[in-house]
Amino acid sequence: MPPNDLIPFPYQDGARRMAEAIRGINDVIVASHVNLDGDAVGSLAAAGHILHLLGKKFMLYSGTGLPQSFSFLSLPDIVHTSLERPPLLPRSALLLDCNEPHRLGQELAARMSGLAGVNIDHHPGRGMGSRANWIFPRAAATAQLMAYVAACLGLPLSGGVADAVAVGIITDTGGFRHGNTDADALQLMVHLTKNGCNIFRLRELLENTWTLGRMRLWAKLMSSARLERDNTVAFCRVMSDDLLEHQCAKEDVEGFVEHLRRLRGVKVAALLLEDSRQTCKFSLRSAEGSDVLAAASALGGGGHVNAAGGTLRLAPGRAESVLLDAVCKQLDRENQPALSRADALPAGE
Ligand code: 5GP
Ligand code: MN
Repeated sequence: MPPNDLIPFPYQDGARRMAEAIRGINDVIVASHVNLDGDAVGSLAAAGHILHLLGKKFMLYSGTGLPQSFSFLSLPDIVHTSLERPPLLPRSALLLDCNEPHRLGQELAARMSGLAGVNIDHHPGRGMGSRANWIFPRAAATAQLMAYVAACLGLPLSGGVADAVAVGIITDTGGFRHGNTDADALQLMVHLTKNGCNIFRLRELLENTWTLGRMRLWAKLMSSARLERDNTVAFCRVMSDDLLEHQCAKEDVEGFVEHLRRLRGVKVAALLLEDSRQTCKFSLRSAEGSDVLAAASALGGGGHVNAAGGTLRLAPGRAESVLLDAVCKQLDRENQPALSRADALPAGE
């Protein structure tokens, strides 16, 4: 199949625009949001391979570094954790899987004004690229968008590019289980698989590499999980001491919130992770029909309708009640019967 048959119609214009934008930049910082997740790493790696194949100068950057769990991925270069002494004089930035400057981390956000920005993302938003933006929430993963850009540039979707794209799609679809697992994402996976990408091997590397400490941590978290709001909200709090006790890092908690949704009748799963003494990170997941993006946005966070998160500058006790309050309010709003037009009119009209 010629590569461009690979790009579903709704994606063609964006892929073409981004291919052109990427052809026009050089000396590129490739970056994503702080605390890289699978799609951030996947799209970062895919972008690096693309720039390498195009003969561009680039550096991969993440202030919070490459999580150990993704170290198996073949990257075209190391991931720099500081911009103090960059290996090149950056003139542009390729920003992936986020579209708000504050999610880039302070160090990069502070340098953005002098750089030509190209922003590719699948979170709802307006985009932050000064040169070009492709914000396409319909995509299952940002890595999926990178695959279409690569195809548009005439690059083969095999080897490191294929693995990087697959890791992004596998993680953001929860292993092809979430609501974003659509025909376009699956069609792309078929193409990657035909080109040598091995889903089974990638899932082994992504999922079956736990330490016993992580297993014990999850056991503790499972036994401390509780139900709220007539058993429709599942909640769990993770303290730094829990991580210390089991020699775990924050990334060892990744995925736990999905398990809270396994409880019968639960509409929203909420997880609170103590980040530092006065800061907590929260993760929300919902069943179809409940909008956790609205609840997260009310607290200054973001994400997708069924998977969202954010940071609360509060100690865990207070953060817990603020988070649960926001979730319950959102569920209450969704439970209200829609006002009929007559009811919605102000009195007297
Ligand atoms: P997670 O709960 O796995 O950290 O994140 C779930 C989703 O919410 C992801 O799409 C992630 O990018 C987004 N997200 C997490 N934290 C934040 C945040 O602080 N701000 C915004 N805008 N999005 C976030
Ligand atoms: Mn993503």
